[in-house]
Amino acid sequence: MKPLFVNHSSSSRAVCKEKSCHQAFTSNEESHPLLSESLAGRGSSGSGSAKVSAMKKHAVLAIFLLLSMSVFADDDFPDDWLTVAEKTDFRATSSYDETMGFLRRLETAAPGLIRVTDFGRSGQGRPLLLVIVSSDGAFTPEAAAATGKPVVLLQSCIHAGEVDGKDATLMVLRDIALERKPELAKGVIILFAPIYNADGHERVSPYNRSNQNGPVEGMGYRATANGINLNRDFLRLESPEARAMARLVAIWNPHLHVDNHVTNGSDHAWVLTWLVAEAPQLDKTVDAWVGAHLPKVLAEIEAAGHPNGPYVSLVSGSDPAEGMIWDVSQPRYSSGYFPLRNRPSILIEMHAHKPFQDRVYANRAFMEELIGEIGRSGKELVRAVAAADAAEIARGRADAEPSEVVVRWDVAEEGDTLTWPAHEWAVEDSVVLGGSRVRYHPGEIREVNLEWRHTPVPELTLPRPRGYIVLAGWPQIEEVTAGHGLRAYRIEKDAELEVETIRLSKPEFATFPYQGVVMVEDFEVSRQTERRAIPAGSLWIPADQPNFEIAVQLFEPEAPDSLVRWGALSTVFERKIYIGTDVLEELAHEMLDDDAIRQEWEAALDNPDFAVNRSARYLWWYRRTPYWDETIGLLPVLRVMRPAELELEVWPGL
Ligand SMILES: [Zn+2]
Repeated sequence: MKPLFVNHSSSSRAVCKEKSCHQAFTSNEESHPLLSESLAGRGSSGSGSAKVSAMKKHAVLAIFLLLSMSVFADDDFPDDWLTVAEKTDFRATSSYDETMGFLRRLETAAPGLIRVTDFGRSGQGRPLLLVIVSSDGAFTPEAAAATGKPVVLLQSCIHAGEVDGKDATLMVLRDIALERKPELAKGVIILFAPIYNADGHERVSPYNRSNQNGPVEGMGYRATANGINLNRDFLRLESPEARAMARLVAIWNPHLHVDNHVTNGSDHAWVLTWLVAEAPQLDKTVDAWVGAHLPKVLAEIEAAGHPNGPYVSLVSGSDPAEGMIWDVSQPRYSSGYFPLRNRPSILIEMHAHKPFQDRVYANRAFMEELIGEIGRSGKELVRAVAAADAAEIARGRADAEPSEVVVRWDVAEEGDTLTWPAHEWAVEDSVVLGGSRVRYHPGEIREVNLEWRHTPVPELTLPRPRGYIVLAGWPQIEEVTAGHGLRAYRIEKDAELEVETIRLSKPEFATFPYQGVVMVEDFEVSRQTERRAIPAGSLWIPADQPNFEIAVQLFEPEAPDSLVRWGALSTVFERKIYIGTDVLEELAHEMLDDDAIRQEWEAALDNPDFAVNRSARYLWWYRRTPYWDETIGLLPVLRVMRPAELELEVWPGL
């Protein structure tokens, strides 16, 4: 059966392109320099093509410059400078090897401007490609910071079948490297991760994305080799890819992030849709920069023939007229993670039903306009994120006025009205599902005014702690703390401190895995102030750091992506020691001499279910003995609410 793109009669052939992509990487080591000599072709194991002498590079560059000035018309590059998508008339996307080859040629053409490196390894050992574009030759985070220019991180193929951003950005970089649009690189430093999910990208099939209109020769697979959806892993860091991305982000601290996707779900005239977390989830100064500049970018590309609108997330699958709602971006997603770092992340969702070529051109136009706009107004962006960082540090200082942190967000009831250029739809019978379904009829536009709810409002807030203590002996917490580059200290000596403890009870576990994990869906929480022993080796994570909200989201159990919810701390629910019923029977008889306990017991027995539940009765008595393990349900993360004296040494991370 041929792949069928819904709403389009496709003449596509179901050709599964043979890929000779699998480098024989045997090592999967994590420690990876951000400037890998081998990949960039400067080390002893570099490829021949990249080992050009400096003189040769200059000669090659001179030739390209000459050609670019004299021969090229717009988009009229010689065949050897076309991307795979262009060369194949948008029937194919570039493989990992083809992408790397193209980028290396750009680097050779513009060696002082473009550097190709990697930021880690995939599960199967592929280098995770990273391109750095800097007209100042600022190819390290320190050099980039010294320029004072904004750093923008463009990321594609997190869902590896959604390839548009990769093919589009390759064209933008070519325009920069071959000096068609050199001005784009003047005011901004670009980091480009073309194939974030490198392993999924090479699992090519024309059947990977049923709703996506091309490339017809196939596209990659959504998840990593071991089944992780990377766009659920920004906070938890289950995968080597997400750990590498978190490290890249921690080291470079880019001022803005773009995450390129392709989506379906409804049909409309827009070829590009977008989403960005707003204030107060995103710092309000940074949000103001986005609000002033993103609309300009979108208007420019609209004027250039690329219709666009906000990401379409319908309230009802059976009646589009019921409106749109942007669910709050949780930190498992890029759009929810970067606001924790006081940075915006723009989610781009190209409309899957549009032809691949139209999507790539629109995505390219967006990238180009955005880079240009950041170049022109980037100093303001740099100032805005610096102010947001400073404000977060100030709120966390030991002598700061008490304040609150937001643990969970909701969407405001009030929305805006939006005109949505939908394709005509009708409700029809569904053979597959029974009942009814919405069927869109492409070609006819039906403009409808929809309510669009999108503003985040705090749903749960807590008093801001002065910091967290992570008790010694919980490597899974230390790993994720280090992974995000949080500042922490090792407590040198045993201590005793007044802290706020968090105890959990009545956990409800999911009945099916999610990202390979049994999530904890619900529980009861109680917090109380008590003095506790803090063993030497515990970690102190102070609140006066710019990314402290990452710690809040990891450690406060009610947060949507807390370590508790992700099942990372589920041993706290387990009982490891027991009491013999004979011992307990003796103790119960003694305790019944106490009138208060006798009355409590009799009241408990009034519940007939309890009265016949042997396990509940056992636990009722066990909890009242000194043998009960008081750490059951106790989180190994303590909230410190008042400035504390501790002997500390700097913790280098892992
Ligand atoms: Zn996606």
